[in-house]
Amino acid sequence: MVAVRQLNKWFGDHHVLKDVDLEVAAGEVVVVVGPSGSGKSTLCRCLNRLEVAGQGSIDIDGRPLPAEGRELARLRADVGMVFQSFNLFGHRTVLENVMLGPTKVRRMSKSEARAEALALLDRVGIRDKADNYPAELSGGQQQRAAIARALAMHPKVMLFDEPTSALDPEMVNEVLDVMVSLAAEGMTMIVVTHEMGFARRAADRVIFMDDGRIVETGTPDEFFSAPRTERARDFLSKIL
Ligand code: ATP
Ligand code: MG
Repeated sequence: MVAVRQLNKWFGDHHVLKDVDLEVAAGEVVVVVGPSGSGKSTLCRCLNRLEVAGQGSIDIDGRPLPAEGRELARLRADVGMVFQSFNLFGHRTVLENVMLGPTKVRRMSKSEARAEALALLDRVGIRDKADNYPAELSGGQQQRAAIARALAMHPKVMLFDEPTSALDPEMVNEVLDVMVSLAAEGMTMIVVTHEMGFARRAADRVIFMDDGRIVETGTPDEFFSAPRTERARDFLSKIL
């Protein structure tokens, strides 16, 4: 579903992704961990072309990342993304936030988009907040709205970049539970998170990045119980 080959990315002369190879099969859930600055967000941003890689290739569902225009809009629909900060449109209701993509990009009728948006809000447990504005929601509710908005585009892959790290602790699980259920339904997911509970519950594979490289890859059990590299052991000793 996702094939990254020999990806390299520079910011000026700062080399931030180094020969990254990553294959994610349909339905697979990959958790990405690693120290601050190791390139996790940059990798996610390259995958939906918020950043342009310097070298290498990325295929989504067998097709190379498009450069621009309508093809790029299609890519953005195929690759849903949820960030750390809740990037909802503040001047639109939750329902409008979720309907916007389907009506504008997928050219769905308003009534159809509305019905689907309400079903998605129900699925993430905030159907009762449909007519509220984002500022009227808790952080956990906003993040679930952001997930519903991404799902409304019927993505083939969902990217999550530290979706719970800005949340108060008591709201973390309500977001992780939605992600776990998505994983169980077979969504292909790449998740940057330090939530080891999530990794153990939902990940098929954990990859550890350090200094722009994928240093280790293994099952959650392998990675957490028996990290192979000193760098991974050092990292785990700080977060566990
Ligand atoms: P964190 O865990 O703190 O989120 P990360 O693993 O997501 O870290 P990135 O945000 O991908 O790390 O950053 C990788 C490197 O690229 C860092 O050294 C960062 O300073 C640099 N970097 C990221 N974005 C830019 C940018 N727009 N311009 C210049 N340098 C950048
Ligand atoms: Mg980051």
